[in-house]
Amino acid sequence: MRDCLLIKSGTLLDVESGFKYLKKDIYIEDGIIKEIGDDLLDFKDNCSILQLDGEIVSPGFIDIHTHVYNGAGLGIDPDIVGIKSGVTTLFDAGSSGAKNFKDFYEGTIEKSKTGVISLLNIAYSGLEQLRYEIADPKNIIIEATKNVVEENRDYIKGIKARASASTVGDLGIKPIEIAKQVASDLGIPLVVHIGNYPPKIEDVLKLMDSGDVITHCFHGKPNGLLNENGDIKDETLEALKRGVLFDIGHGTSSFNFNIAEKAISKGFYPHIISTDIYKQNYNGPVYSLPVTINKMMALGMSLEDCISKVTTVPANTFNLNNIGMLNRGYKADITIFKINNSPMELEDSEGNVRETNKHIEVKYAIKNGELNRL
Ligand SMILES: [Zn+2]
Repeated sequence: MRDCLLIKSGTLLDVESGFKYLKKDIYIEDGIIKEIGDDLLDFKDNCSILQLDGEIVSPGFIDIHTHVYNGAGLGIDPDIVGIKSGVTTLFDAGSSGAKNFKDFYEGTIEKSKTGVISLLNIAYSGLEQLRYEIADPKNIIIEATKNVVEENRDYIKGIKARASASTVGDLGIKPIEIAKQVASDLGIPLVVHIGNYPPKIEDVLKLMDSGDVITHCFHGKPNGLLNENGDIKDETLEALKRGVLFDIGHGTSSFNFNIAEKAISKGFYPHIISTDIYKQNYNGPVYSLPVTINKMMALGMSLEDCISKVTTVPANTFNLNNIGMLNRGYKADITIFKINNSPMELEDSEGNVRETNKHIEVKYAIKNGELNRL
């Protein structure tokens, strides 16, 4: 007998695939979406049936900035911030480097139900130490990093580097230049965390190409993407034009409502929404990817726009095969949720509060065809 699941009367939301709140059925067999259509039948006669009533069905949420490896004590259980929060795929953003990727793979990637992908840290030891991981050139071992990526292409989809005073020390922009070179040689995106000077944000932006990603794009520290007047810096505009992508990466101290509002008022929207969730911010201010989406909706972004920024856009950016869209032949990674219209207060990383009356309530997460009720 083959595993099958029939989702009846879902309201499909995947604009890229042509579904903008369209009522359809989805037939899943052996973890693959086999059919999407009207009034589908239980072809096997023995499928589980999930009868929906107004819930929205979207591709499984993807969070490109989390910490789910126990290095440096940051790592949280991937299934808590993954499947149990309605997120079917997580990226670990640089908790492991070439030195400890194998341990991360065996202890976390292989064991979790949630899909886990690595952005390998350019620092050899990853985030074993939480400060100055790339301040010592001896902790950047180019050949070892390249070899680990080459051997694990299915699980490593980018290079991560942190560009801020607490990481680069006296080396300034140099480690980020090396990270860019390594990512280019490997043909994968570079994901750079931005924060306090040094290095200068302008110097970081100049290095970034089309398809590279800046995370923590709306942090409230100095050395950001806007100038003191709240205008978008020229270097930011040039990077946008080149096709550099900007990601939220909320975190404990990297998301500020005021900055996000100013950026959005100038037409500067994030391309990707992610959490930078880990043990110390899971109980606030981050909580989950759906909560981070709620914050962006509170700033006026539409639900359909937010959903593409946690599904299609990350899948395309990192060349993830067969996830991120509701398509026949794609993996059955699906998030099913309701919109709750009761009022709710939301807090950023700096204590600023916004009110919303529209928030996501995840009901089911389907991973590889397996239904999980939340
Ligand atoms: Zn992070």
